[in-house]
Amino acid sequence: MTTTSWHARASALQIDGRAFIGGERVWSRSEQRFDNLSPVDGRNLGAVARCDGADVDLAVAAARAAFEDRRWAGKSPAQRKRVLIRFADLVQQNGAELALLETLDMGKPIKYSQSVDVNSTANCLRWYGEAIDKVYDEIAPTAENSLALITREAVGVVAAIVPWNYPMIMAAWKIAPALAAGNSVILKPSEKSPLTALRLADLALEAGIPPGVFNVLPGYGHEAGAALALHMDVDCIGFTGSTKVGKQILQMAGQSNLKRAWTELGGKSANIVCADCPDIDNAVASAIGSIFFNQGESCNAPSRLFVEASIKDQFIEKALAMMPDFTPGDPLDEATVMGAIVDATQLKTVMGYIEAGKTGGASLLSGGRQVRNESGGFYVEPTLFDKVDSNMTIAREEIFGPVLSVLSFDTIGEAVEQANATPYGLQAAVWTADISKAIQTARALRAGTVHVNQYDGDDITVPFGGYKQSGNGRDKSLHAFDKYTELKTTWIQIG
Ligand code: NAD
Repeated sequence: MTTTSWHARASALQIDGRAFIGGERVWSRSEQRFDNLSPVDGRNLGAVARCDGADVDLAVAAARAAFEDRRWAGKSPAQRKRVLIRFADLVQQNGAELALLETLDMGKPIKYSQSVDVNSTANCLRWYGEAIDKVYDEIAPTAENSLALITREAVGVVAAIVPWNYPMIMAAWKIAPALAAGNSVILKPSEKSPLTALRLADLALEAGIPPGVFNVLPGYGHEAGAALALHMDVDCIGFTGSTKVGKQILQMAGQSNLKRAWTELGGKSANIVCADCPDIDNAVASAIGSIFFNQGESCNAPSRLFVEASIKDQFIEKALAMMPDFTPGDPLDEATVMGAIVDATQLKTVMGYIEAGKTGGASLLSGGRQVRNESGGFYVEPTLFDKVDSNMTIAREEIFGPVLSVLSFDTIGEAVEQANATPYGLQAAVWTADISKAIQTARALRAGTVHVNQYDGDDITVPFGGYKQSGNGRDKSLHAFDKYTELKTTWIQIG
């Protein structure tokens, strides 16, 4: 589609910002709404329901009733599979609309909303649908006079609280395994990006997910989010977001009914390039492409780049040559690869970190400015700092914007020590042609995922999650079922 036709579609768009509870679109009980502003150009996309505790009570009651009468949990895995696959197909069929909503809501380029966000969401729903009737339970090797069954049962009512950086994908990583396992789900999207979650609810109903089984409550974190985390009748919470809020979620779970609380949190991932890296051009392209993808708003963005001192100048020269490729553009232009920062608050945060880099003594080699101001949206140049020290703010804190910090090292031991010197542990990478060094380094890095000679390896078949303060949960893969099921043992006496 041309840029003009995407803009025409955007202008004609009718937003339905009502919540989805018990199979129906409804405004919040309080009638409170909030304006949904687009970071693309600052336009008001429409009013969205501002749900709070009263709406959470309604949604939990609807979800609980649906779980208890087994309208979904009682279906065979093969039946749930068929519905989830239909859901995936509908996501794909409505891909252009969903992609447009995602781009307008959070600013990412339409090119990626279509090719990445829509496709990954559909793939995730399809994969868990396909998986659920292929997972077997166990019989324990007990004595002859007994039979001990080890079975998995749905937890019950699952609340999924998700961030704004990949609104649909983050939602799918939670709702797909939770629904496949037979749970009832309440999804709370970020107040910054509620639109695709609401459309997913319509499509879920159309696909055949019974009313009450999947509910969507837009609203603020301290209102709808906290009410879910504190609710006495929510059995499990799947949270993706900042480490700060993740800690609050765990506290609220403990303060209420000790609901199972799974957290997927922030990161400050290290990308280590050794002098014996097998392909420097590839390492440069990967380092730059990965940090600037999604405007740097990725939890696993390799924001700390450690380059061995002997190749650093050469590496930086090649990296600087690539920076213009990521010049921010109109997110509705299919040629754009870097879009808008999600909102004015995040823009201020990112610009604050850029300032901290400059005043903290790092050397700004490229970018650092807000651009496209005339658009009314929020855009930041891809930014590269050299001569960064591990103690600087920009090397310690998650920026969640298009800012790369380059550090150097002389020995791999020193690089690993610095890479691990962070409260986070989401991802890391090492580039070397020495297989022993690669394996030893991968073992030494304290991160949920370590890449060797690449950074972008990603597939629904592998777990995604962190060590340390990057959280305790794992999204994706069959392991995600562990979060949304209880393990039951049934002892049967024989004879
Ligand atoms: P955030 O923590 O501010 O918000 C995440 C969600 O929590 C939102 O829906 C928000 O409304 C809700 N929330 C906020 N305060 C709450 C409260 N008191 N009680 C209950 N819910 C509350 O995070 P964000 O800014 O939306 O997202 C960015 C963060 O998410 C980054 O730190 C990023 O690294 C992280 N993230 C992690 C992963 C992962 O898989 N590890 C993936 C994507 C994003």
